[in-house]
Amino acid sequence: MTPGLVLRGGLVLRDGTFAVADIHVVDDRIASVGPSLSVPDGAVVIPIGGDLVVPGLVNAHYHSPDNLSTGAIPHAPLELWSLASVPRRTAVPDALRTAALFGAAQLLSGGVTGVVDMIRVPGPLDGEAYDAIASAYVDAGMRADIAPVLADLPVEKTLPLGPWEPVTGDRAAIDAAIGAVERFARRWDGRAGRIGVQVAPSGPQRCTDDMFAAAVGLARRLGTRLHTHALETSAQARQARLRWGVSLIAHLQRTDALSPDTVLAHLVWPDPEDLDLVARSGAIVVHNPASNLALGSGRAPLPELLARGVPVALGTDAATCNDGLSLFEAMKLATTLHRPDEPDHRRWPTAGAALTAATAGGAAALGLTARAGRIAPGLVADLVVLDGAAPAFVPPNDLVRQLVMRAGPDVVRHVFVGGQQLVRDGTVLTIDVRAVADEMRRHSASGVAVARPDGALESAISRMLGDAHRTP
Ligand SMILES: [Zn+2]
Repeated sequence: MTPGLVLRGGLVLRDGTFAVADIHVVDDRIASVGPSLSVPDGAVVIPIGGDLVVPGLVNAHYHSPDNLSTGAIPHAPLELWSLASVPRRTAVPDALRTAALFGAAQLLSGGVTGVVDMIRVPGPLDGEAYDAIASAYVDAGMRADIAPVLADLPVEKTLPLGPWEPVTGDRAAIDAAIGAVERFARRWDGRAGRIGVQVAPSGPQRCTDDMFAAAVGLARRLGTRLHTHALETSAQARQARLRWGVSLIAHLQRTDALSPDTVLAHLVWPDPEDLDLVARSGAIVVHNPASNLALGSGRAPLPELLARGVPVALGTDAATCNDGLSLFEAMKLATTLHRPDEPDHRRWPTAGAALTAATAGGAAALGLTARAGRIAPGLVADLVVLDGAAPAFVPPNDLVRQLVMRAGPDVVRHVFVGGQQLVRDGTVLTIDVRAVADEMRRHSASGVAVARPDGALESAISRMLGDAHRTP
C-alpha cells in the first residue's frame, strides 16, 4: 500500500454536518476519516486546519461546445433560442477540445470534480470531434461522462405546430448513429478510470420512436445511463400529448425507458401522475434552475420531487443560456427559487438538500452512487477544500447554509479527483488557463459559420408560442 496523502485538520462534511477530522487518501480512494489519524511514513501531509472539506460537486447537465458561443445567442424561449444556437455549432475538433478544456478549468476551479457533457456537433457522430472532447477531459483530469446526442427528426416535427403525422425512422441511419456511439463508448468508457459514456437521445420529441428505442437498447447493452432532455418547456408537454396521446413521462414509462439508469434533464412541466411515475421508476432528475430562468422555461417542481424521494442532481446547462457555470449558483437557486410557490415553508428545499443534490445526486447521475458523492472510507477521493477564512464562513454559525447561500466559486482552494490534486490554492494545475483562453479568442475570431435561421420556421414557432400563452 502506498503511503498516500493526508488532509490534516479540516472541517469535514459527513452526514450533513461539519466536524474536525483528517482524511487519509491512498491511491484514488479515501482510506480512512477521523480525528487525529496516525500518518503512515512517507505520506504527504497537507495541513488545512480551519478550512472546509466537501465531496466534489457534479455538474450533471452541461454542453461544453456552447462555451464558444457564450453571450452570442439572444435569450428567448427555448424553441427560438435553439433555432439561433444550432447554426453556430462547430465540428472543428481543435475548437471543441479548446471549449471543453476552457469549461473544465472553470468547473474545476469552481469545485466541480465531475460533469455530464451532452454534445451535439454538426455532421457524423463518429470521428475526431468527439474524440477531441474526450481527450480534453483526460488531460484535465476531471471525471466526465460524455453523451453524444442522438436525434433524427427535423425541428418542425418536434413542436406542436400542427397535427402529428407519424414518421418512421430510417433504419440504416439509426443503425449508423447507434453504432457510432457504441464505438465511441468502446474507445473511451473507463479511460483513466474517470471517463464514462452516456447514451443521449436529445429528447423523446426530437427522435423517431425507432431511434429512441434503439438508444434505450444501447444504454442497456452498454450498462450505462440514458440521458435525455425531458419536459423542459410547456410546448414539449403539448407536443407529447399530440404525438402519443399521453404525457411524455407516461410514454417513457410504457415504452420501458424509465429506470434507475435514466437521467431526465429539466422536468419543468410534469403533472402529478408524471411525478409519481418518475418516483416509482428510480430515475434521476437534473434540475437546471439558472437555465430554466434564463430561457423563461419555468420552475421544476423541486419540492414535489424531493417529497417523493426522487434522486435529484444539479446542472448548469449550456453557457449560451445560463450563462455561467457555477454549481454554487445552482445550489442557491435550488433552495430559494421554489419558495414563492410553496406556502408551507417546512417544505422549502433546504440548503442541505441542495448540497446533497450537487454531490450525492450528481454522483448518481454519473452512475457512482456507491462510489462517490460522500466522504467515507472506500469511496473515491473526489474532495474540495474551501477557504474557511472566506467571509462566507465567518462567523461559522451554520456552515451548510453559509456554503449554499453565501459562498461562490471564489472560496475553492484545493480540488482532488481520485486523490490527484488538480487545483492548488485556486490554480488549476492541469490546464494552462491563459493559453486556452487565447485559443478561445482565436477560434471565435476565426469565425463560426453562422447560417441564418429559417425565417418561416421562426415565424411559425413564434405564433405557436403566442398560442401557447393564450391557451395554457
Ligand atoms: Zn441541455
